[in-house]
Amino acid sequence: MTNAAVEPSATEALIELEGRYSAHNYHPLDVVIERAEGVWVWDVEGRRYMDFLAAYSAVNQGHNHPRIVAALCEQAGRLALTSRAFRNDRFGPLCQKLAALTGYDKVLLMNAGAEAVETAIKAARRWGYRKKGVAAGAAEIIVFEGNFHGRTTTIVGFSSDPNSRGDFGPFAPGFVRVPYGDANAARAAFTENTVAVLVEPVQGEGGVIIPPREFLPALRAACDEHHALLVCDEIQSGLGRCGELFAHHLAGVRADGVCVGKALSGGLYPVSAFLADDAVMDVFDPGSHGSTYGGNPLACAVAEAALDVLTDEGLIARAKQLGAHLERRLRELERSPRVKAVRCVGLWAGVDLHESAGGARRYTERLKGEGVLAKGTHVHTIRLAPPLVVTREQLDMACDALVRVLA
Ligand SMILES: *Cc1c(COP(=O)(O)O)cnc(C)c1O
Repeated sequence: MTNAAVEPSATEALIELEGRYSAHNYHPLDVVIERAEGVWVWDVEGRRYMDFLAAYSAVNQGHNHPRIVAALCEQAGRLALTSRAFRNDRFGPLCQKLAALTGYDKVLLMNAGAEAVETAIKAARRWGYRKKGVAAGAAEIIVFEGNFHGRTTTIVGFSSDPNSRGDFGPFAPGFVRVPYGDANAARAAFTENTVAVLVEPVQGEGGVIIPPREFLPALRAACDEHHALLVCDEIQSGLGRCGELFAHHLAGVRADGVCVGKALSGGLYPVSAFLADDAVMDVFDPGSHGSTYGGNPLACAVAEAALDVLTDEGLIARAKQLGAHLERRLRELERSPRVKAVRCVGLWAGVDLHESAGGARRYTERLKGEGVLAKGTHVHTIRLAPPLVVTREQLDMACDALVRVLA
């Protein structure tokens, strides 16, 4: 028996540090990653894994995409932050690129996804008071059970997840929550004070929940009838994940406002935006909204490169094509007695396990042992979301591993 036998591994030592000095607001898998490239990440022991979470779809372009890294480094050495008190040379070109790509008149740049959602809420309320004529302080926004729109106090206030909202109140009023996918319930929730419907076209954190085909068109029609805005949160579902630029395009509707984030920067830097036409965006005047880092030149350079990669590498079409293959492979799992349901849209899948399977975590831990990193959501669902640069062979390797751990 030597001392070396009880020396903690590098992994154990780093996990211990984290446990001692970080708030315990996450429960990560016990893998400590130190570098990455494309679909691959390496841990501190030199083991290699395929990343089938892609930082909740922030890394759709693949880890450390050389074009985005180059844009980041070049810009960091030149100009990083001016604040919006002055103008910077990267700001206008990114706004133009994002507006042209998405088809909206204007963009408002922020940092975290939650800030883009907060921006949408402010825009919708001001639009309601100033353009629709809603009585002061009476604006209502319709939201859905199982939503995830971020972590600010306003946003968790209309979450239905007790873990996200418990003991963080009092919460902001003005939100009406109805079951997701239930067009009749949504229609019944409209009043003369409704200014917007805020919806994820596919619920990501909810477990990759795909609503019935008629749901978004019905919300669109109800918003038109009641003169309210349809706002889609595409922070996780957008920018190619679902095989379209935006998931709501799959339903053939156009939203009045869109939130984007995550893959907008390909994982290199936090960049988010709210997109809308002038009739909505012109409710903002100088001083009414802002952010010290929002629209900074580093963010703009990174986001421009990230959008170029998305377009030039045809990642959206790739997600559609490879998504069809992923779905075919995952349908095999439906034969497993542990699997209750499989949902797939683009390169995004939720595999629901029966309660008797004992929760998703034990299977994501076994997947880690097989060299595939994935994250459970809502206890019984395994979510798969590889970078969109994944190959067909890599998808097959991950599906084979999933078949093994669920056997
Ligand atoms: C991740 C996410 C957010 C919040 O983004 P942050 O950058 O974590 O603030 C909002 N909406 C959806 C749908 C998300 O998936």
